Amino acid sequence: MIGLAVAAQVAGKHREVYILEKNETFGKETSSRNSEIIHAGIYYPGGSLKAETCVAGNALLYQLCRRYGIGHRRTGKLIVATVDEEVGKLEALLEQGRRNGAKGLKMLSAEEIKELEPNVGAVAAIFSPWSGIIDSHALMRYFLSKAQEEGVKIAYKSKVIGIEKLSDGYEVMVENSSGPFPFKTEVLVNCAGLSSDRIAQLGGIDIKKAGYKLFYCKGEYFSVGNRKNRLIKRLIYPVPEPSTGGMGIHATLDLEGRMRLGPNARYVNEIDYRVDDSQKGLFYRSVKAFLPFIEDDDLESEMAGIRPKLQGPGDDFRDFVIRHEQDRGWPGFINLIGIESPGLTSAPAIAERVEGLVKELL
Ligand SMILES: Cc1cc2nc3c(=O)[nH]c(=O)nc-3n(C[C@H](O)[C@H](O)[C@H](O)COP(=O)(O)OP(=O)(O)OC[C@H]3O[C@@H](n4cnc5c(N)ncnc54)[C@H](O)[C@@H]3O)c2cc1C
Repeated sequence: MIGLAVAAQVAGKHREVYILEKNETFGKETSSRNSEIIHAGIYYPGGSLKAETCVAGNALLYQLCRRYGIGHRRTGKLIVATVDEEVGKLEALLEQGRRNGAKGLKMLSAEEIKELEPNVGAVAAIFSPWSGIIDSHALMRYFLSKAQEEGVKIAYKSKVIGIEKLSDGYEVMVENSSGPFPFKTEVLVNCAGLSSDRIAQLGGIDIKKAGYKLFYCKGEYFSVGNRKNRLIKRLIYPVPEPSTGGMGIHATLDLEGRMRLGPNARYVNEIDYRVDDSQKGLFYRSVKAFLPFIEDDDLESEMAGIRPKLQGPGDDFRDFVIRHEQDRGWPGFINLIGIESPGLTSAPAIAERVEGLVKELL
């Protein structure tokens, strides 16, 4: 998603742009293994890139969706407190969301929640009217076709295996089915998702010193069957527990109206997208208080994604890295690292930031 959005944004304008992708096509990794939520920008500390790009990206995405017919629905979302002790956290979150510029947020009473979502159990909730869902594949197709119309070339099955700094740019070693070949560029934008720390390291950056080492944090999903999808109309989230690395197991809907629960947040050592069925009990227990109609035999394991996280277990908040590495001695090398949630929502705003950095160079 990020590579395509950046290419579409920086294309044309007398620049020759190439996308190198190791897989046989685009969108085979994190960008097709997520909740497909258009976030409003509530959760992230004020002034962070996550907050700023999410709020800007939310507005840009709805514009793009309307203009280019990209599948989406502004479902709205509730973040629910199930006991009085959680209400204070909800109020703090509401304030943070408003400061970040998330639009239309308001606090709902238990009665107001019952009117909107009669099957949800809650004592209070934040209502976020600008949260929604999007067909992320259609969005990627849009960015790719916009990029290609501007002359961008995409090379699939082309893996970056080495980067050498030259006096006037970079020689990138790429491996495809015919073997390795060199590729020269003045500007290099690293949007390699789960491998973005390794790509920075290939370029010679000390990723430990720079704080770029990524942790993999797996998020699994369970689908909800037995026609229970008809019992909610909006996205329903619990009050988040930031130290867990996720937003809390929540209920989402997709554009076909299917309901699923997830994602959980488990730090793992390798990329393995299998869902661990033994997590089902945890999912059931996590949502039972606010979705009392769920029974454990409604749940079927569905899919998993992996967050490229800069925040390790127990660490404090870490922001996106969107950085031109000139001051470290790598002019023209732009790193995008730790682009976890809300990266999908932020994509068009991240692309604009990268364009700003590229403009200073070319
Ligand atoms: C469980 C989960 C739920 C999420 N939910 C949401 C959500 O609801 N809303 C939201 O806004 N965000 C969400 N996100 C975040 C969002 O999915 C990501 O921020 C976004 O998809 C990141 O896109 P990307 O392009 O950086 O990464 P990727 O999609 O992983 O793309 C990176 C690309 O780089 C390629 N690559 C890697 N190494 C090399 C190499 N050496 N050579 C060539 N190519 C290479 C890969 O093949 C891949 O195609 C979620 C993430 C997860 C994991």
